[in-house]
Amino acid sequence: KDTRFIRNICTIAHIDHGKTTFVDRILELTKSVDPRKMHEQFLDQMDLERERGITIKAQPVKVIYNYDGQDYEINIIDTPGHVDFSYEVSRSMAACEGAVLIVDASQGIEAQTVAHSYLAIENELDIVPVLNKIDLPNANIEESLQQVADLLGVPKQDVLKMSAKTGEGVENVLRAIVEQVRPPKGDPNKPLRALIFDAKYDKYRGVIVYVRIFDGVLKKKDQILIMSTNQKYEVEEIGIFTPTMVPTDSLGPGEVGYVIAGIKEVSEAKVGDTITNALSPTDEPLPGYRDVKPMVYASVFPGLPEYYEELKKSLEKLKLNDWALTFEPTTSPALGFGFRCGFLGLLHMDVVRERLEREFEISVIMTAPNVEYKVLLRNGETIIVNDPAKFPEEDQIEKVYEPYVKLSIITPTDYMGNILTHLQNERRATLQHTENAGKNRIIMYFKAPLAEIISDFFDKLKAMSRGYASMDYEMMGFEESEIVKLTILVNREPVDALSTLVHKSKAYTVAKKLVDKLAELIPRHQFEIPIQAKASGRIIARADIKALRKDVLAKCYGGDVTRKMKLLEKQKEGKKKLREIGQVSIPQEAFLAILKIG
Ligand code: GDP
Repeated sequence: KDTRFIRNICTIAHIDHGKTTFVDRILELTKSVDPRKMHEQFLDQMDLERERGITIKAQPVKVIYNYDGQDYEINIIDTPGHVDFSYEVSRSMAACEGAVLIVDASQGIEAQTVAHSYLAIENELDIVPVLNKIDLPNANIEESLQQVADLLGVPKQDVLKMSAKTGEGVENVLRAIVEQVRPPKGDPNKPLRALIFDAKYDKYRGVIVYVRIFDGVLKKKDQILIMSTNQKYEVEEIGIFTPTMVPTDSLGPGEVGYVIAGIKEVSEAKVGDTITNALSPTDEPLPGYRDVKPMVYASVFPGLPEYYEELKKSLEKLKLNDWALTFEPTTSPALGFGFRCGFLGLLHMDVVRERLEREFEISVIMTAPNVEYKVLLRNGETIIVNDPAKFPEEDQIEKVYEPYVKLSIITPTDYMGNILTHLQNERRATLQHTENAGKNRIIMYFKAPLAEIISDFFDKLKAMSRGYASMDYEMMGFEESEIVKLTILVNREPVDALSTLVHKSKAYTVAKKLVDKLAELIPRHQFEIPIQAKASGRIIARADIKALRKDVLAKCYGGDVTRKMKLLEKQKEGKKKLREIGQVSIPQEAFLAILKIG
């Protein structure tokens, strides 16, 4: 195939700015699918996923566009619209030469638009900027045009205007793609190099790997090799996306398509990895592959203990289709058997919970998320801890390091003051610099601990800005920090499922909240129960649950004194016994409520 007539582009847009509508219009315009079928096969499936909030990335699609009498093959690859998946965004971009940047004219640029645009520039993509929703009465066309122009450093006239809804200007975008995006390069005679940019698990066919061919030709029956794992497979089927999968005989340089090769789970074919020919392999994998590690951890327990096996099976099934999910068995005295899971971020965590509940129909209890810490021990060893229960004792610790992120926030200037104060005073963040982002809008860049951002920060930001601010973040690495373990003692017994890791500056506030909440949620017993929070070897907060006042003496009708004494003795003994075995029944709600505080 002549690569001069191929264009590979990815779409960049903030959620709801019109990416899906744009792709629908293109499918219509290029008559790629019978509109009725399109709805059945393509859109419905996506709507369903969207409604469930679990679509991370839409399927790629290939369209044929006739430009001045010449057919061009345009492959459109979606980029995930969420910060958790920035590595996947970068690999989608690596599969393309160009990008269409879509901005809603009534909203203007958002934090992610900015972050992704920079990523596209770094990846040297030819960017076609488009202002969408120009039909809206409240479209702020001039202002938004200026924002996009400033962002990319291009003249305002270079930004196209479209309404994906009415179809106005959509064809101009197609033309611009052909004119402005360079064709792919590649040598069919070189050893095969194909970039994996996505993979899906299919019940019947195993893993379907989405690839972009750089060099060489991929054919059916080929023996292929996945370079980072060194595993070999035989190709059963290859094909293209129309958007339905259509088998083809071969895929050559510049082409985008899929490979089915008896791969069992997506973690065998990771995004960013290179596929080569097993018989004549390349010695140069494509650049940019990274083994992505989870950033956020939480434990998952079945709603009822008897569903443990089912939870395990469901997680295993999810893992088939989710290369970033990790899990291992864990136990908690309070919640029983469960799994310690690792996620890319909070959205990823929500997606997993949502899938467990909706697809597998099991109710789960998910604990509060926390980040991973690096701990340098006194004995010189460095360990990684992601479970508060496994955090070493203070006297063994030399230094603790916690992950930091570069956080960017775009907001109308009106809300800037509040956001800044909140981040500095309550989230341990430091402002690094600011940039203008159009009239009355500003981008603020912060350095902040990831732990502060994964809690309720996003909701807080939306509340502080009436929904107008948007955010994005990227990892910066680990920095030394004063992290302490808060241990909760119920009736003087440490309860490990309740321990949390907090920054020293917040230890007291969190401790106080925790003990108060627990005291509220644990019912009264026959005896008084102290709830204590311990940090750095000291009790720093305490709340007591008073004993039930069961007036045993009332039963004695004044009877003889010795009998009264005996009763009192007995009761005291009973109390002691209970204390000795630490028999406080802590209701499950207490655990759950508590896990939200830390
Ligand atoms: P996505 O999240 O970026 O895929 O956004 P969608 O394509 O789902 O669009 C979000 C909403 O905006 C939908 O309700 C669309 O109908 C609407 N929309 C998309 N493009 C336009 C447009 O050009 N004009 C108007 N008025 N609405 C649009």
